[in-house]
Amino acid sequence: MRELDVIVVGAGFAGLYALHKLRGNGLAVHAFEAADDVGGVWHWNRYPGARCDVESLQYSYSFDDALQQEWVWSERYAQQGEILAYLQHVADRFSLRPLISFGTRVTSAHFDAAVDRWHVTTDLGEEATARFCVMASGSLSASRLPEIPGIETFAGQILHTGTWPPGGVDFAGKSVAVIGTGSSGVQAIPQIARSAEQLVVLQRTPNFVVPARNQPLSEEKQSAWKAAYAEYRAQARQVGTLYDFNQTSAHAVSAQAREAEYRRRWKLGGVNFVHAFNDIMTDPVANQTAADFVHARIREVVNDPVTAEKLCPRGYPLGAKRICVGSDYYETFNRINVALIDLQATPVTAIEAKTIRTTEAVFAVDLIVCATGYDALTGALAQIDIRGRSGTALSAKWADGPRNYLGLMTADFPNMFIVTGPGSPSVLVNMVVGIEQHIDWIAACIQHLGEAGATRIEPEPEAEQAWVQQVNDAAAETLFVQANSWYLGANIRGKPRVFMPFVGGIGRYRAICDEVAASGYAGFQLANGD
Ligand code: FAD
Ligand code: NAP
Repeated sequence: MRELDVIVVGAGFAGLYALHKLRGNGLAVHAFEAADDVGGVWHWNRYPGARCDVESLQYSYSFDDALQQEWVWSERYAQQGEILAYLQHVADRFSLRPLISFGTRVTSAHFDAAVDRWHVTTDLGEEATARFCVMASGSLSASRLPEIPGIETFAGQILHTGTWPPGGVDFAGKSVAVIGTGSSGVQAIPQIARSAEQLVVLQRTPNFVVPARNQPLSEEKQSAWKAAYAEYRAQARQVGTLYDFNQTSAHAVSAQAREAEYRRRWKLGGVNFVHAFNDIMTDPVANQTAADFVHARIREVVNDPVTAEKLCPRGYPLGAKRICVGSDYYETFNRINVALIDLQATPVTAIEAKTIRTTEAVFAVDLIVCATGYDALTGALAQIDIRGRSGTALSAKWADGPRNYLGLMTADFPNMFIVTGPGSPSVLVNMVVGIEQHIDWIAACIQHLGEAGATRIEPEPEAEQAWVQQVNDAAAETLFVQANSWYLGANIRGKPRVFMPFVGGIGRYRAICDEVAASGYAGFQLANGD
């Protein structure tokens, strides 16, 4: 049995940095990774069109200046393969591979209060113990197939974007159905349409899709950015991603000025569009002006007016479901080999052998691509039998929604840290920035415990309760709670409807975490069980 200081679960952006940082602090650390290589989502999501939608110069580690200076990104938004190559490079550059057991899924993690240690088992029968456990298991790593009547009887191939076959998929000459029009579907649909014989898109809820305007990254832009990296990274630590944050209300300007601002951002591309005015995510009327602008662009691009109307998102605020960033998304529906099915108007009634039947039509299909998303934020943790000090399962404790302090730790589960999970800014910000903040905080906390002679740290229930309240209050002030999104767990049947991420911003969150640490870990109980 491995006897360690820290066990890390996962070897994506979070797990790799955790290994590097904690080993650097002199700790015996080891990671278990279910995949056969590093990369996390960038290992699993090999679907055509997969790329980041935070610009690569920002969607990358800042912890090592030589790394950020030397690595060359080829495009504004790097493709999956390039991000995976970057993470493989990081693993090799910092000699992290010997610290990782690949192809190994952690199945249980039990805290032994007699010795203040975690006892971990894997699907290969391996066992390990460590004082600390870092759950870097991912917020978007537990993929889910749709519940559609008859899908289990489909005789063709069924794929999920989040578990894409490494060898790729040949769509030539095939009739393909894509279910789901979130970020993954939006990226995959135009690519699949180009190579498939026929493509039918099964859309339950249309999403707001802003154009990426992806392009090769010029040497000049890259050099200029790198020269100012120290300053840009410092800013990103406060805001997540550097966007052009307009501090003006949408109501403070004329309709023409508003339109001009939306047009300017639409032309530049990317998530920057949502920051056109400072009240888009808090004021429904301001939000509607942005939604109306997108509707007009959809009607402009899509030739068939009926299809255009089906593609216009309605009934929820723009941005309340994660905004999608696409390339030729709306244009794809002008292709003669592409059909759009509005599942709300004409639901699927049956999937049989190689056909999909809706209330209106029947489609012959060789292959179904499920871009149906994830059991987000809590799914990967729920797949592990995690038991705390009193033997209670984490899934039982969180049955009515996740409860933790600062998103980092949960009462009754000492010495277990969660990276970018519920209660932290998590998926609402550039996640690499969030990951670095979390790992740095965790590393400093472990160091503090060593210096203080403590073997255990755990949140006080009152601090946890207050934090859960703060997370809920912050969300309630926004329009985020007005959509049935995965942020709220609404995509999973039976999952409690709780807005999970902390919407108060990474800068405010960082200040709170730093203050807690500086005050000697206020809100936490430290103890020595030796
Ligand atoms: P992951 O990358 O999910 O890694 C977690 C790892 O843990 C996985 O490899 C998994 O196999 C492993 N694991 C899980 N459970 C176990 C277990 N029980 N035992 C062993 N191993 C386990 N974020 C952005 O900020 N910008 C973007 O542009 C962006 N694009 C994205 C595109 C896609 C297609 C997806 C799916 C997500 C995207 N994200 C983006 C969010 C993304 O989740 C984060 O940016 C980041 O990659 C998360 O890294 P991670 O290490 O925390 O988790
Ligand atoms: P998602 O946003 O949850 O989208 C899933 C889609 O599948 C939705 O359109 C959903 O419809 C649909 N769906 C689910 N179950 C269905 C069913 N039974 N029948 C019909 N439709 C069904 O998942 P995702 O697209 O994989 O994206 C998840 C997150 O990963 C993103 O929000 C983003 O954070 C990240 N991501 C980022 C990028 C990027 O551009 N960098 C790319 C991919 C993913 P409803 O809306 O009606 O539920």
